[in-house]
Amino acid sequence: MTVYNFCAGPAMLPADVMRSAQQEFLNYQQLGVSVMEISHRSAEYMAVAEEAEQNLRDLMVIPDEYAVLFMHGGARGQFSAIPLNLLGQGEALYLLNGQWSVAAANEADKFGAVVRRDLRTEQGPLDLSLIGDTAGFSYVHYCPNETVDGVAMHDIPQVDSPLVADMSSCILGRELDVSKFALIYAGAQKNVGPAGLAIVIVRKDLLGQADPKTPAILDYALAQKTDSMYNTPPTFAWYLSGEVFKWIKQQGGVAAMQQRNRTKADALYQFIDASDFYRNEIAADFRSEMNVTFQLHDDELNKRFVREAEAAGLKALEGHRMVGGMRASIYNAMPLEGIHALIDFMERFEKAHR
Ligand code: PMP
Repeated sequence: MTVYNFCAGPAMLPADVMRSAQQEFLNYQQLGVSVMEISHRSAEYMAVAEEAEQNLRDLMVIPDEYAVLFMHGGARGQFSAIPLNLLGQGEALYLLNGQWSVAAANEADKFGAVVRRDLRTEQGPLDLSLIGDTAGFSYVHYCPNETVDGVAMHDIPQVDSPLVADMSSCILGRELDVSKFALIYAGAQKNVGPAGLAIVIVRKDLLGQADPKTPAILDYALAQKTDSMYNTPPTFAWYLSGEVFKWIKQQGGVAAMQQRNRTKADALYQFIDASDFYRNEIAADFRSEMNVTFQLHDDELNKRFVREAEAAGLKALEGHRMVGGMRASIYNAMPLEGIHALIDFMERFEKAHR
């Protein structure tokens, strides 16, 4: 049975990458040892690290004015690092558009003054006019793709302070103008690679003003100065992420990912919309391409769906415990065949249970 893994994260990785990593797992480049077992300062590993950064720069067209950092601690590590590095004596504005932006604001509270603006309304998923006046903040934080809610802000908000984005669940999923941002960050374990790594892309002129109490491993200026090797980096996660970057390049780059992701998400949403059995009530403009949520009319049936899907090889479709229902996470590595298999199953399930 072919298994398709719809887990929100750690998520499936491209099969080609997993296979080639397996091939060189025990013997990396004829060294007789694994890439996991060599010094991060060895010439062989430095080449891995540099190539990964260069490929990410190429894929995202990252201008030279930006540092690319490979850090520990996932995205939540950055929830702390961002205020520690960027807040200074000022105020930060957090736009709330789902569970993760709320969590980011709550963590920032520990470090200084946080202003919140909740864009969520009863009428629709988001009202962007609630962003309001954005001048005079140390930074404005938002989450373009809210993984739990399945809600996305596809257009970059126009703001008058440095813009910070949590792209954990959408980085490399569609083309992006990096120059519109002061800082982009992402936990790796969805569209990039294994857990344990966070990618930070930050405008260099913002570095060097961290709170003096900032833990050294969260200090961006130090990370930049040491090529993200102030302490031992998560070498295997970094290596495997580099393999994913190469794979994306081979597939035709981020433009090709974007097109494929659109096709996948459209197929799923069109099926849901055409059905009176499944529902997704998020307005079309705010629907996530990466995390497609859907519900049935009662919770017992939701549970049954998840159970029977699992038995049919469609893994990890249970929605986040905060929202219930189902969630299909369909990041870059999910092939179109996985979407077709899911839709076929949904059709069969509907016939059996409507
Ligand atoms: N932000 C977003 C948008 C996420 O989806 C997640 C993980 N699901 C996080 C932050 C937290 O990531 P981590 O577990 O790497 O800290």
